[in-house]
Amino acid sequence: MTDVIKTDVLIVGAGPVGLFAVFELGLLDMKAHIVDILDRAGGQCAELYPEKPIYDIPAIPVISGQDLTEALIEQIKPFGPVMHYGEMIEHLERIGDPLFRATTDRGRVFEAKVVVIAAGGGSFQPKRPPIEGIEAFETKSVHYAVRRMEDFRGKKILIIGGGDSALDWTLNLAPVASHVTLLHRRAAFRAAPDSVNKMQAMVAEGKMDFVLGTVTTLEGDAGQVSTAHAKRDDGSTFAIACDAVLPFFGLTMKLGPVANWGLEFKGQLIPVDTEAFETNIPGIFAIGDINTYPGKLKLILSGFHEAALMSQKAYRYVFPDKRLVFQYTTSSTSLQKKLGVA
Ligand SMILES: Cc1cc2nc3c(=O)[nH]c(=O)nc-3n(C[C@H](O)[C@H](O)[C@H](O)COP(=O)(O)OP(=O)(O)OC[C@H]3O[C@@H](n4cnc5c(N)ncnc54)[C@H](O)[C@@H]3O)c2cc1C
Repeated sequence: MTDVIKTDVLIVGAGPVGLFAVFELGLLDMKAHIVDILDRAGGQCAELYPEKPIYDIPAIPVISGQDLTEALIEQIKPFGPVMHYGEMIEHLERIGDPLFRATTDRGRVFEAKVVVIAAGGGSFQPKRPPIEGIEAFETKSVHYAVRRMEDFRGKKILIIGGGDSALDWTLNLAPVASHVTLLHRRAAFRAAPDSVNKMQAMVAEGKMDFVLGTVTTLEGDAGQVSTAHAKRDDGSTFAIACDAVLPFFGLTMKLGPVANWGLEFKGQLIPVDTEAFETNIPGIFAIGDINTYPGKLKLILSGFHEAALMSQKAYRYVFPDKRLVFQYTTSSTSLQKKLGVA
């Protein structure tokens, strides 16, 4: 990937706050690209509590984490944000006044006049299962995320886990793989019952295997796995032939590369002013859970407010020669045209 993507604003993180930032920026004619290390939008809402009800979103008495994410995606559609999932912003440097160059772990390069860090608690990192020597197989044949289903075509896949990710990928990859084995330490699952029922139906039809046990070691050569050795609760052992292993043991949040971008930090958080939520580097803003200021509350509604004020200041960097006129969506035909409703 060598073509540089030029945009007004680059948003790091597609959690609820990063998503709403697209809306506020869009009302002021600023185009945004969003990058998130996860394979979908929603941040903590989608990843940690998709089905839990949230009761403190203004004017919405109750909404689940997943439904809030979907509503935000619908709300920002008129502004056509470009989403880049499964990529982490690794490097960020200042190359102009202000102009920034950001590079992802997959080599994609962005140039943006403004950068909005909406990275929440940091990047979600997969938890490594307690399998001795697993590091030697990582990236080559042990994967903690599926970036391209095609990479698994015709392979013998071992999926480990009992949560939504394990079950979702079991169902999605079964038609692509030559064979799928799902292994979980117990017969009870955390995943949605509907997914579990579908998986069990596929096992009954002979389309895949489900086995109870724990993987202890992997066997293979030069990072390419050939066999997983596992044990049952009674201590007996068995082997599973496989050429790809996908462990889904949940995620932890780590600050990650944000810490290396030359920004001031207070612990794990980025201090900002409360007029525009700008960091110590002009043109880089931090909104949502990642920032700190006197009185900060880590609530979604705080992040929404921060996105609105950030956009007012970002406008000055993106359109230094234009005057910003404050308008309401209820009464401004110009805003309604941007929203596609007038
Ligand atoms: C169990 C639970 C219940 C909660 N209930 C409520 C509630 O009822 N009401 C409420 O208001 N709040 C609640 N919260 C808090 C709320 O979820 C957070 O305030 C909110 O998610 C913050 O949004 P955000 O967009 O700032 O960050 P996040 O939701 O954390 O999203 C940040 C995103 O940035 C991505 N990212 C980070 N670093 C990088 C990088 N370098 N490159 C690419 N992507 C990156 C991450 O992958 C992530 O997707 C709850 C939180 C939890 C855990």
